[in-house]
Amino acid sequence: MTATLDLEQKKVLITGGSGMVGSALKLYIPDATFLSSKDCDLRDLEKCRETFEFHKPEYVIHLAAKVGGVKANSDFVGDFYRENILINTNVLESARICNVKKLVSLLSTCVYPAKANYPLTERQLHSGFPHETNFGYAMAKRMLDVQSRAYRKQYGCNFICAIPNNLMGENDQFDLNDSHVIPAIIRKTFEAKKNREQLVLWGNGNSLREFTYSGDIARALLFLLAVYNSEEPINIGNTDSWSIREIATLVSIYMSYNSEVIWDEKKPSGQFQKQSSNAKFLRLGWDTEWYSDFETTLEKVCVWFRENYPNIRGV
Ligand code: NDP
Repeated sequence: MTATLDLEQKKVLITGGSGMVGSALKLYIPDATFLSSKDCDLRDLEKCRETFEFHKPEYVIHLAAKVGGVKANSDFVGDFYRENILINTNVLESARICNVKKLVSLLSTCVYPAKANYPLTERQLHSGFPHETNFGYAMAKRMLDVQSRAYRKQYGCNFICAIPNNLMGENDQFDLNDSHVIPAIIRKTFEAKKNREQLVLWGNGNSLREFTYSGDIARALLFLLAVYNSEEPINIGNTDSWSIREIATLVSIYMSYNSEVIWDEKKPSGQFQKQSSNAKFLRLGWDTEWYSDFETTLEKVCVWFRENYPNIRGV
């Protein structure tokens, strides 16, 4: 069992509560307040502050972000920077004004420098320029670390930053222009089977990636609320890696797609490997056994997709 803070009777606010990780948190802390962009546009400081003053949270899990795929991130790099900077600055400032006891923000391993040493360790976060395709999003995310440290130093705020790797789960974004690798494979495989078409996937399928289930991230965030109080950011992802080809094979099985998979090698395969280190998280007391089994989780998400199609985000 993971250590968790007793949040019963406590006021907990989740920004980005309508997203994938937010939905996973609802299963663990259903009585918290879950905000979507419709409840409050966090880019607006006045609205953000008023929302915090209304709910008076003691604990905040900050998940809200403008998130997108490679194309959106590079076509709208300025928007990704500006909107995320506004959201993050406003949320941390409102939390400070409202004397929030503790706030945890979510970064991402994709905000590490493009030229880093592997596995990615927390100390490397600011040691080089991020990948050019997502530098707007990445720099805005890095500033969460800067603002959290600065507020800790000047105001004594207990604001911490957690860094997950690739995530997967129910209620993910399945728009093919915006989706990450697993939702893209799931949707393409399902639709190839449904429309009796051939499944074409990007790249050569050899790249290795690490994935963490959204439910595990929810539990990891509650664990951090209970035990972590340092200004240093902390990697929290499951570091087992899987090739894109292995994932495509598993999804084909779960979707009963029995035809060939065509790998379009004219499309980018991405960097071969992007390992991260969760050694610090394990030293803190997290156990690798607490991460869900990848294959079971992937099958669960595929079943969820089949049962909910087409009423799914981005479809
Ligand atoms: P989602 O894209 O599923 O959800 C994003 C959330 O942010 C939604 O609730 C959305 O509200 C909210 N939001 C966006 N813009 C605004 C705004 N202007 N004002 C208020 N709320 C806003 O995100 P995930 O759950 O996938 O990710 C959670 C966090 O984890 C994010 O910070 C992300 O950067 C990070 N992360 C995600 C990874 C992944 O693979 N998904 C990997 C690593 C890190 P609405 O529903 O109303 O649009």
